[in-house]
Amino acid sequence: MQYVSTRGRAEPTDFFGALMTGLAHDGGLYVPDEWPTLSPDLIRSLRSMPYSQAAWEVMRPFVHGGSAGDAGDRGISDATLHTLLDEAYASFVHHSVAPLFQTGPDEWLLELYHGPTLAFKDVAMQVLGRMYEHVLRFHDRHITLIGATSGDTGSAAIEAVRRSTRSSIFIMHPHGRTTEVQRRQMTTVQAPNVHNIAIEGTFDDCQRILKELFNDGQFRDEVALSGVNSINWARVLPQVVYYATAASSLGAPDVEVSFSVPTGNFGDIFAGYVARQIGVPIRRLVIATNDNDILARFLATGRHELEDVTPTISPSMDIQVSSNFERLLFDIHGRDGDRVTADMEALARDGVFTVDEALLDDVRSLFGAHRADEAQTLAAIRAVFDETGFQVDPHTAVGFHAAREDRQGRPDPGVPMVVLGPAHPAKFPTAVERATGVRPALPPHLSDLYDREERLAVLPADLATVRDHIRAKLART
Ligand SMILES: *Cc1c(COP(=O)(O)O)cnc(C)c1O
Repeated sequence: MQYVSTRGRAEPTDFFGALMTGLAHDGGLYVPDEWPTLSPDLIRSLRSMPYSQAAWEVMRPFVHGGSAGDAGDRGISDATLHTLLDEAYASFVHHSVAPLFQTGPDEWLLELYHGPTLAFKDVAMQVLGRMYEHVLRFHDRHITLIGATSGDTGSAAIEAVRRSTRSSIFIMHPHGRTTEVQRRQMTTVQAPNVHNIAIEGTFDDCQRILKELFNDGQFRDEVALSGVNSINWARVLPQVVYYATAASSLGAPDVEVSFSVPTGNFGDIFAGYVARQIGVPIRRLVIATNDNDILARFLATGRHELEDVTPTISPSMDIQVSSNFERLLFDIHGRDGDRVTADMEALARDGVFTVDEALLDDVRSLFGAHRADEAQTLAAIRAVFDETGFQVDPHTAVGFHAAREDRQGRPDPGVPMVVLGPAHPAKFPTAVERATGVRPALPPHLSDLYDREERLAVLPADLATVRDHIRAKLART
């Protein structure tokens, strides 16, 4: 399988290249140059497989491009992929990895938070960490991983590489804008290769600095820089799997299924789009947003226009620039990298680009978008608790609100709506307690989190300062 850049200027590469570079050299994101197809029989059989086996079936064509066996020195062989996936998903406490629960007529909750850090980011990160380690050992190399997080990516990435002897990791988070649980899950990891940086700014500042570090070719080569953000294709790919397994469990390929996806960087919902491209019968993908509703406004008006970030009780979605949206935009524009480049330049220059109505109608035939404000988010937590006894976190609640709004406007009887549950309620205990009156407890393996010692550096939102800090830390290891 070859991967091409959404900006059309970087050389195509294979899975290994996309894994190791993250962001393409022209500033674009890698996408497969064609979509493989899962056969209806395979989709039907996923429901009977252990999760890691299903993951292998879905991911294999993207890693090898159909050629069976060992892909040689650049690759991850079929057997290796199988082992990596078995190990990655053994780290989940729930045997089925992504269990599905019914919450109402034709309404289901897909719990994605049974991994080590209690958020769905583990689903991909546990795989990514093992892929890196395998490839680095094979080539006897070291790398520096740098990521920006609005909360959950950081801990999932740190957890995935904390035992690595071949990578150092630097995670930037917006100072004071994550929950205490989220921060402590990152800052209490006492490993010599783990470095936390609290940036005095927003998540978008962190993301901007990250992009600038990647665009600094000299620094990039000097420290062998690689990314862990969902701009890395290998982050998106493992998320395709649970759309396929959930749909299969509900009767696909013989019935259609819709999904409501709490959305920030557009990585998770883009994985749903990929699942549909490869044959999973998905009727609707609902973009669920909080007050930071740039994507909902875009779908309504065709104007993709930046505003300031508003802090909310669902902080992992407090994002204006949804990096992965560029992957969808590439398809909207008929895979024309020049048009994507023009849009992205307009966004950087004027804070806005527009897409015309005809193209937008195509997008609307698959995607819906709904916003939940803070009161609606709390009301959704309360409603789900009253109706089912399940406590859901604020991100999941935004998903429920959007799912129910969407179905009110477009009833689809007989099409199950699956709401993705991206985080454990105990990651956001204050909001959940406010809505339900019951404080959700951390699971046993994290119960002493509030007693552990923290380690972090607070830095201004300035490229040069961050770069110097990273250089200094690396010089000491
Ligand atoms: C990362 C995250 C999101 C947003 O997912 P994207 O792939 O960035 O759209 C939503 N909720 C939670 C809890 C997250 O950790």
